[in-house]
Amino acid sequence: MSAPNPSLQKKFSRDKQVKLRRPIVENALVGMLVVLTCVHAVHFVVPHAVLRQIMTEQVLVRSELVSSALTIIIAIAIYVLMSARVKAHKMLHDELRDRQNIDLVSGAASRGHFLDGLKQAVAAHRKGGSVALIIIDIDHLKQINDALGHGAGDDVLGFCARIARQAFPGGRIGRLGGDELAVFIASKEPIPEGYVADACAQYLATLREGLFIANRRQAVSASLGVALAPVHSDNVNELLSFADLALQQAKTNGRGACSIFSPDILADARQERFIERELRAAILLGQLAVHYQPIMDADGEIDSLEALVRWQNPVRGVISPAEFIPVAEKSQLIHELGLYVLKRVCEDAETLPDVPVNVNISAWQLAHDAFLRDYVSVLKDMNVSPSRVVLEITESAMLDTSDDFVDRMAAIKSAGFRIALDDFGMGYSEFNQLRKLPFDIIKIDKSYIQNIGTDIVTDTFVSAVTQIAGKMDRTVVAEGIETEDDKVRASIAGCGLFQGYYHQAPASRDKIVALYKAKALADVA
Ligand code: C2E
Ligand code: MG
Ligand code: MG
Repeated sequence: MSAPNPSLQKKFSRDKQVKLRRPIVENALVGMLVVLTCVHAVHFVVPHAVLRQIMTEQVLVRSELVSSALTIIIAIAIYVLMSARVKAHKMLHDELRDRQNIDLVSGAASRGHFLDGLKQAVAAHRKGGSVALIIIDIDHLKQINDALGHGAGDDVLGFCARIARQAFPGGRIGRLGGDELAVFIASKEPIPEGYVADACAQYLATLREGLFIANRRQAVSASLGVALAPVHSDNVNELLSFADLALQQAKTNGRGACSIFSPDILADARQERFIERELRAAILLGQLAVHYQPIMDADGEIDSLEALVRWQNPVRGVISPAEFIPVAEKSQLIHELGLYVLKRVCEDAETLPDVPVNVNISAWQLAHDAFLRDYVSVLKDMNVSPSRVVLEITESAMLDTSDDFVDRMAAIKSAGFRIALDDFGMGYSEFNQLRKLPFDIIKIDKSYIQNIGTDIVTDTFVSAVTQIAGKMDRTVVAEGIETEDDKVRASIAGCGLFQGYYHQAPASRDKIVALYKAKALADVA
């Protein structure tokens, strides 16, 4: 991430050559000027009568004329050279200042220079006008670096800075570090939130069009957090942290979006801390429950069960996984939560119908080396075979096709687990990931299943997934089957397994066992 922008590099090295050659010529001229000045001094000091004894009057006059003319020419030359040298010094000085003020990779202002400018702008607009601060976090820059090399990552940074110049005219662009850029716009008038939101939307849309890297179009996505001074705060540090909180919210909402700070975000941050504290306690005290939802085949038989964690908090009542899983993902808690659910599943395994059990894991867990070791060790301790377990990985930004990730998945499979790609179609995965990553099962997200037959994009998407899966011998599960109609349409589209309220909502182990027994009895009768 350190290769400098080539055009800036060229600019900086050109000026140096000018500076090095000049003193030799200049010193020679000064020497000549000194000699000529001595000649003049001789003319001046030695009486003419004495000089006329050495040379004729005509030679004397000529020598005075020539030396005067030469003196003037050399003085002018020295003046020209010296002013060029002053200019070169100034350029060198500017260069050094630019080196400190410009980030050579992106061409944006360096962090320090940007923050100085922001401080001044906020101070200048405290009593009138406003400043909008936008923090830009480039999504998946690490993956771009890993997959395409650091040169590609640098190109993406430069591209993001360039597009920011167009989308936020008059704005000052800076690089805050790593994959973070920032822009501030200062105005004598109050800046409406709507204006900033539109500019951000325009920026994101242009990024999505992407840039060409190695002759291939690479779409770029970023998450943006916005805070306004003095509306949200007239203190620079607070403004930065508010924009950062808004940015975290944009990331949590699924990235590729813009979030503007509001006091609710502060309440959300407090709420997150509450959830983290309480969840840690709930795991320790064994207060989380695990429910199961059957996945059915076309004939209405149970194919497998999905384990879903449930949390009944004594103070706040039921807290949805959609609320606490993202909090757990931000901390080590997600690994502890995953192990907790796995242990519960192992305890229930003997009582449950004898089918595979799917447990959800977060892609964040895969990044940790302890993951596979700890999961295998729980199963071993509890005498459950990994072949009984399917790991459901939610489609997310973390899933990439890097060699490291492919290796991790291969290690999971060789330990005996099967792997499902959960919620496919939510917006992160590409078909390339389907082809390259060794999933056994693809679960198509309910938003697609519930729209089959209503729009062409959904129909094309679902049939493409089922065709690829068919060719690669992978099973496709339709999620969110709520009606018979949903099931018929998903089945026609090529899905082989079905999960949803139409068959059975998630329920406790005992209820699932009772339902299964009742069904088995009914089948016998
Ligand atoms: P998921 O893995 O896609 O689980 C399916 C979600 O869809 C469940 O929500 C389930 O109750 C819901 N659902 C099932 N059938 C239907 C239907 O017909 N219609 C609709 N609208 N929804 C249906 P739930 O239990 O709230 O879980 C939400 C998400 O939280 C899960 O989505 C999963 O990603 C995550 N999650 C749940 N338990 C765990 C866990 O133990 N570990 C991890 N890492 N994530 C979990
Ligand atoms: Mg799931
Ligand atoms: Mg799902």
